[in-house]
Amino acid sequence: MTSAVPEGHEGVWVFVEARRGTLRDVSVQLIGEARRIADRKGTVLSGVLPGWGVEGLAQQAIEYGLDRVYLVEDPRLETYTSRPYTKVMATLIRKHRPEIVLFGASKNGRDLGGRLHAVIDTGLAADCVRFDVTPEGYLDMIRPAFGGRSLAHIHCEKHRPQMASARQNVFRPPLRDPRRTGEVVQEDVEITDTDVDTRVVKFVETPKHDVSKIDDARILVAGGAGLGDPKNFVLLEDLARVLGGEVAASRKPVDAGWMPKAVQVGQTGKTVRPVLYVAVGISGAVQHLAGMQESGRIVAINSDPKAAIFEIADYGIVGDLFQVVPELIRRLRAARGAEAPAELPAAAP
Ligand SMILES: Cc1cc2nc3c(=O)[nH]c(=O)nc-3n(C[C@H](O)[C@H](O)[C@H](O)COP(=O)(O)OP(=O)(O)OC[C@H]3O[C@@H](n4cnc5c(N)ncnc54)[C@H](O)[C@@H]3O)c2cc1C
Repeated sequence: MTSAVPEGHEGVWVFVEARRGTLRDVSVQLIGEARRIADRKGTVLSGVLPGWGVEGLAQQAIEYGLDRVYLVEDPRLETYTSRPYTKVMATLIRKHRPEIVLFGASKNGRDLGGRLHAVIDTGLAADCVRFDVTPEGYLDMIRPAFGGRSLAHIHCEKHRPQMASARQNVFRPPLRDPRRTGEVVQEDVEITDTDVDTRVVKFVETPKHDVSKIDDARILVAGGAGLGDPKNFVLLEDLARVLGGEVAASRKPVDAGWMPKAVQVGQTGKTVRPVLYVAVGISGAVQHLAGMQESGRIVAINSDPKAAIFEIADYGIVGDLFQVVPELIRRLRAARGAEAPAELPAAAP
């Protein structure tokens, strides 16, 4: 009997995304996880870096853990657009035949993976939160299913490469080792006018006050339905200010229109990994936990001693948030003698 697995595919690849002269965080995080998978399979880890003027980033990506970078430079690749990037990836995949290709689930990574899997006729497991290798050698692509109540293990047995995207902040970024060396391979992929279906006229940065800073915040104070009214989020803003953090929310306040979607933490919001996560008036539904349980330290404030959030909290305060939070602010201010931000380590362990 012949094996159903297509042969001649070797190596783990990561789509490396550059933005404004830097590697995107999600790509760096993915390099760390992909390194682990490549080592388990005893194979080479490569990255594909399309862009313009991005050669310096290739060496950086090697220092984070890649063995090889396929560099494709073209002015038309300066900003991400679907068709040129798909052409680059599809051309290189057909030429080098990797076994596994991983994407960060940024907007661009989702767009690219979704288009590419149809072009090269393979599958794509989107928004994975864990990877493993099965005893048969398949990539075990693990993602939440049924509203986060269970985890689905997805295997791609009959097509290659096996492709998946991973959510931001799910994996820890690897340490950068400036002594690491690797190979940078310049690849030529011809991009013609017919490949370009959209033209970037101007790149407009979203004004700062519209941008959620919760992705990279070291300290988050998150509020839930227990706040009872949008105006009560002022309390959390005060607590966040005294701690030197940002305000986030569970889905209920977002659905109620109290807080913007950009600050929602959880399965259908953002995955965060701050040093300190203070959950105020949040019950701890699985869909919320999915977005914050990797935080360094979790403090929960809830009037219900049976609230599920206490099961994962490092410190729990059972009480009425309208008494606990003002008291906490008062004591923190008194302890510091001023509103200076707390001194905490730079990243979650
Ligand atoms: C497919 C799907 C995706 C979802 N995605 C997300 C997601 O991304 N993020 C998310 O958060 N949820 C998500 N949800 C919703 C989730 O299931 C919960 O409904 C939601 O997280 C509950 O929000 P909450 O904890 O703020 O509200 P509640 O569950 O209503 O909890 C409020 C808590 O406040 C406490 N409380 C009330 N008054 C006080 C007080 N005065 N002092 C102290 N404590 C008080 C209560 O004891 C209670 O525990 C999703 C659900 C589904 C089905």
